[in-house]
Amino acid sequence: MKFSAVSLARQALSGHKDWPAQWRSPEPKRYYDAIIVGAGGHGLATAYYMAKEHGIANVAVLEKGWLGGGNTGRNTTIIRSNYLWEASEGIYGHAHKLWPGLSQELNYNVMFSPRGVMLLAHNHHDEQAFRRHIHANRLAGIPNEWLTPEQARDFCPILNIDANIRYPVRGAALQRTGGTARHDAVAWGYARGASARGVDIIQNCEVKAILRDASGAVTGVETTKGEIATRKIGVVAAGNTSVVMAMAGLRMPLESFPLQALVSEPLKPVMPCVVMSNAVHAYMSQSDKGELVIGAGTDGYVSYSQTGGPHIAVSTLEAICEMFPITSRLKMLRNWGGIVDTTPDRSPILSKTPVAGLYVNCGWGTGGFKATPGSGHVFAHLLATGEPNEIAAPFALDRFRSGNLVNEATAAAVAH
Ligand SMILES: Cc1cc2nc3c(=O)[nH]c(=O)nc-3n(C[C@H](O)[C@H](O)[C@H](O)COP(=O)(O)OP(=O)(O)OC[C@H]3O[C@@H](n4cnc5c(N)ncnc54)[C@H](O)[C@@H]3O)c2cc1C
Repeated sequence: MKFSAVSLARQALSGHKDWPAQWRSPEPKRYYDAIIVGAGGHGLATAYYMAKEHGIANVAVLEKGWLGGGNTGRNTTIIRSNYLWEASEGIYGHAHKLWPGLSQELNYNVMFSPRGVMLLAHNHHDEQAFRRHIHANRLAGIPNEWLTPEQARDFCPILNIDANIRYPVRGAALQRTGGTARHDAVAWGYARGASARGVDIIQNCEVKAILRDASGAVTGVETTKGEIATRKIGVVAAGNTSVVMAMAGLRMPLESFPLQALVSEPLKPVMPCVVMSNAVHAYMSQSDKGELVIGAGTDGYVSYSQTGGPHIAVSTLEAICEMFPITSRLKMLRNWGGIVDTTPDRSPILSKTPVAGLYVNCGWGTGGFKATPGSGHVFAHLLATGEPNEIAAPFALDRFRSGNLVNEATAAAVAH
């Protein structure tokens, strides 16, 4: 069903009781042209673009839990593209161009809101690093600008720029075209679009083994719903990538850390933009419901628990109260965690693998939500054609052997 003023009015007349399910929930077929492991935003976007742009719709997206229940539904939804290297500007810039038209593309409101993302500098090193990013970004045509502390406060009036606080604000890098989007809606919109084009989305279907023939090429997967045959598998399992790839005998250059976030009770609008601070590991924006959405840093050790350490939440809230004193008596409603998969150079992996027919999209760490449309788009090309396009090519797995790294430690090591 196409969403429009007419369909809304028609459903209103029947008390909104006749809206159809937004995607089909079929039983798995015995064979698919391609299987995607993981129904997060990246996996669903991949399936959508495979069907739409490459005409390959005999595809299954297998999800061990519920659609969007991984990091996609757990993140703080910050969208920006001000990374350092050209390769990163390629992939994040590609995604950044797709966001403004995504609601129209999917006929589903993803609530993209380019309200501006401000990254605070608290010391000399921050300032030097952010100015370097600004120069590199502007050479590449990516908007990013330097603000004095007073300009930063004007952009976000609740920001504390007192020079005597523990981490005083020395300035900020502002990407005005950055912002937020509704994370669930991104997953739901891609699921709806993919399903309408014939892709089977199968929830509660965990991949337990990757099946291979005598030559080593993939032949299918064993799941909690039985065996499913295919010649092509795309693993898009974020924090569980190492576990899934080990099923094919591959050891990935990844570490999986818990990363957590919190939301407050709802307030009237107080926060017009997104503010991030790498130095104190705290990030904040305001949702359309009025809750303040707060992101913390990763735990200091690897783990597969989808929850973060309480001490991390405490130190994040201390930093938030110092940066935004009006929050000091605010009540927190809930906190939760996800598992983020980080690479040694803090850049993603979009790649073929040494196993014929096995492809992987992972390593987005603390900041992959923003890349969802671009990542799905280029990974669909890789799966459909067997070769990466020029945007995906720098993110091949063999860069960890060749040493041709894309080091985004400053832009992405802690920032979202
Ligand atoms: C607290 C938090 C805050 C964040 N904030 C931001 C932010 O502000 N901005 C930003 O850009 N990014 C942010 N991120 C990162 C971002 O959420 C992720 O990079 C992105 O969502 C990854 O999407 P995905 O589709 O690859 O993974 P996921 O959404 O995690 O999807 C992977 C799916 O694979 C499934 N799966 C795993 N193993 C199997 C199996 N064996 N069989 C079947 N299915 C399997 C999982 O259940 C999961 O649903 C944040 C992450 C967290 C945790």
